[in-house]
Amino acid sequence: MSLIHSPEPTAHSKTYSLAIIGGGLAGLSLSIQLARLGHRVILFEKERYPFHKVCGEYIAMESWDFLERLGVPLTELNLPRITRLHVSDPQGQLLKQKLNPGGFGISRYKLDNLLAQLARDAGVTLCEKTIVKSIEPAENDLFKLTTSAGEFYTSVAAGSYGKYANLDLRLKREFIAPETRSSAFSAIKYHIRHDIPADLISLHNFDGGYCGMSQVEEGRSCLCYLVRTDVLKQAGGIQALEETVLKRNPHLNTVLTQAERLYEQPLAISQIHFSPKSAVEAHILMLGDAAGLIPPLCGNGMSMALRASAMLSPLLHDFFKHRISRDQLEQEYTRQWRKAFLTRLRTGNLLQHLFGKPTPVSLALRSLEPLPGVVRQLVNLTHGKPF
Ligand SMILES: Cc1cc2nc3c(=O)[nH]c(=O)nc-3n(C[C@H](O)[C@H](O)[C@H](O)COP(=O)(O)OP(=O)(O)OC[C@H]3O[C@@H](n4cnc5c(N)ncnc54)[C@H](O)[C@@H]3O)c2cc1C
Repeated sequence: MSLIHSPEPTAHSKTYSLAIIGGGLAGLSLSIQLARLGHRVILFEKERYPFHKVCGEYIAMESWDFLERLGVPLTELNLPRITRLHVSDPQGQLLKQKLNPGGFGISRYKLDNLLAQLARDAGVTLCEKTIVKSIEPAENDLFKLTTSAGEFYTSVAAGSYGKYANLDLRLKREFIAPETRSSAFSAIKYHIRHDIPADLISLHNFDGGYCGMSQVEEGRSCLCYLVRTDVLKQAGGIQALEETVLKRNPHLNTVLTQAERLYEQPLAISQIHFSPKSAVEAHILMLGDAAGLIPPLCGNGMSMALRASAMLSPLLHDFFKHRISRDQLEQEYTRQWRKAFLTRLRTGNLLQHLFGKPTPVSLALRSLEPLPGVVRQLVNLTHGKPF
């Protein structure tokens, strides 16, 4: 791809300034910002809104102002404000910590749907039920996207397709090399009705993983766990895993035995890797989980996805206005991305090594109990300031 960038494409039905692949928080928020700046934006999402997604659904307060600026009426939604954290080891020993400023709970079903509506209102061409199969360089410094709805052309391609997609295989990204595949995780999620205080998020460890629980809207709660895929396989499936492994933690035993489950079947995903990724790959600008996945125990992946879009938006605007070259766009985005997220990712990975392993997590909880300042510091290292 040439480093001299072409002007914004003129109105041709299938040529756009920006094509966004994946309509989660990163892609939707980027699309809204760029469309409001007057650019021609198309977004491809393989599902149809609204839909459920595997996620713990706890959003750090750092994202509150940004979501409100986008137009999500968070204040009006009367959402649970979460200010306390409980962490237990597999035997049930509890560490209790105040979270300041903490976060809030909202389901992805609701949040992504609200953002999708804001994107349509902003003039984004939103292609639902459309899967992007490949992204290739084309003539005139454009990319050609081959999708289930035909071919499209774009000046810039942004990859916000989440943790792992067909496109990662096509791009031969390093994090899916055979040696990292063996260390993959799976994740399971339910919505439940149970007596969970609105201001509390709990993280309960079990042998091979950990399970988060907190309230979302309308008195529902989200129960979501991450487990090593080999442990899930060894147990013989989700139900057997819950009976024989999760329920050994007394806190999980209570919830899994008593709670009303609001889905007939749990949502499940696999192939979750925490190996480093890059923010730009084959001139495609990656954001959200496609650029780097923070372990879920940090409760910060959604804020990272939103923040990356806020970071990328003015740079893209400058590129479309011919104020910076494609090279400068890629370099500056990579620099800002690393500055904002590398410490969070490293701290998150360090913590993840302790979690899900009975002895280290018990020792860590015992040592941290009298040191609330250290726990606060660890939480702060995985979070950012409001933006
Ligand atoms: C178990 C677990 C619990 C978590 N809990 C929390 C939490 O409590 N708080 C928090 O902040 N973060 C949490 N996270 C992380 C958070 O879910 C992610 O960081 C966040 O969803 C990233 O948003 P995204 O927009 O990058 O990706 P996503 O929200 O995953 O969106 C990607 C979208 O791309 C679409 N897509 C994929 N491939 C294609 C394609 N080829 N063509 C078209 N569309 C495509 C998908 O359908 C999807 O909608 C958790 C993660 C896990 C695994």
